[in-house]
Amino acid sequence: MKIKICPRCGSTRIYYLNGMITGEVYKCEECGYIGSFILEIDEKDYEKFLKEIRNKNQTSGPSDHHQ
Ligand SMILES: [Zn+2]
Repeated sequence: MKIKICPRCGSTRIYYLNGMITGEVYKCEECGYIGSFILEIDEKDYEKFLKEIRNKNQTSGPSDHHQ
């Protein structure tokens, strides 16, 4: 089963905004991303994706710097 996720933060809280002149637009409730580009991945790949996106965003997170 495919799920829609935010390309910026990986959240599944994506809402379809209708009636925009730009066509299909989605909004992420998590980070406020708005755009027509969203990711659609298989549900079983979602956890893997989350790990990847967290690694990317962890430049300012001190929690994993002690290894
Ligand atoms: Zn987001």
